[in-house]
Amino acid sequence: MKKKTEYIKKVGSEAWDKIQKEKLCPTPENFHVWYAYFEGKSPDIAHAIDMLKENKKKISDEAIENIYREFVDNRRKDNTIKKAGTQFYDTVLGLSTHIEGVNTLNKQRGENISEITRTIQKDHGSKDLEDILDTVVVNTHEILKDNTLLAQELDKSKNKMVLLQQDLENIKKEAATDSLTGLLNRKSFDESLFATAAEACESNEIFSLLMIDIDYFKLFNDTYGHQVGDQVLKLVAETLKKGVKGSDIVARYGGEEFCVILPNTPKNAATTVAEHLRQHVSSKDIINRGTGKVLGQIKLSVGVAQYKINEDLDQLIAYADKALYQAKHNGRDQVVVSEA
Ligand code: GH3
Ligand code: MG
Ligand code: MG
Repeated sequence: MKKKTEYIKKVGSEAWDKIQKEKLCPTPENFHVWYAYFEGKSPDIAHAIDMLKENKKKISDEAIENIYREFVDNRRKDNTIKKAGTQFYDTVLGLSTHIEGVNTLNKQRGENISEITRTIQKDHGSKDLEDILDTVVVNTHEILKDNTLLAQELDKSKNKMVLLQQDLENIKKEAATDSLTGLLNRKSFDESLFATAAEACESNEIFSLLMIDIDYFKLFNDTYGHQVGDQVLKLVAETLKKGVKGSDIVARYGGEEFCVILPNTPKNAATTVAEHLRQHVSSKDIINRGTGKVLGQIKLSVGVAQYKINEDLDQLIAYADKALYQAKHNGRDQVVVSEA
């Protein structure tokens, strides 16, 4: 026990030192992520932190919060799904045990009735017919009673299952959604991209991917504050969503980066969509709700890439990313198409 406490203290103080060293806010989320990192039992969290370091990204409060949202929050949802699954299983198991019990009883009662019938046929007149009939009536009555109870039990279980099903649907939806913008999150983007590529390979269709990044967003946050930044992220998400067709998939890829999957769309048409989205976002004035003052406009850089049948999806993302990098390099506020 003492050993365990010592270990917790050690990992806890490593997490605390790191929070101070990186000048992070001592929030529970930051502490949770760093504790998990130093504990070394969460490879996904460790990988996300290592990726930040590898890509020379700043270890900021937002970056750690994103990791928390992605891995800790989602894991909690996964556990809730598992719990709901267990409840579902228990309900079904309880019900089938109940049905089995009633079946055994009814079988026994059925045998009793047959036995009595045989007795009537064999020893016709030798027994008190009234007694025999009484037994038949009692057995039949028991069967009917149990059947009514069973029907009630079935009804209750059905209602319970409908509620559980609704819970599961809600949790599944929540687990696929980015809580700030309401768009699909990174995990469901990965799944959607995989599904789109599988479909494209099967039907020999073309699709394209847009990688979108807000320009100088750090400066915007530093100037107007994180909360205004969050409002901008919501506005960009909404504008992107409204600017594409229903079959197109818009997701928040991370921080201030978004992705759009355009099924059945070659890269020239995808570029037109990207250009339209870029212009649409930059045409909106960002207004401070408190003062009514116009803070400016939001500019986007976009990379476009077209999927090639059987291409690796990491490769497609790398092409779109490279085009996006080129758009940044060329001066931002523009769309660049991958030449690959
Ligand atoms: P660039 O034009 O090169 O893309 O510059 P940038 O400042 O947009 O890029 P950088 O990667 O340096 O900074 C991204 C910023 O996005 C940093 C962070 O403050 C902000 N950000 C990421 N996620 C969130 C969020 O959830 N809310 C808010 N308000 N800001 C976020
Ligand atoms: Mg970025
Ligand atoms: Mg940016």
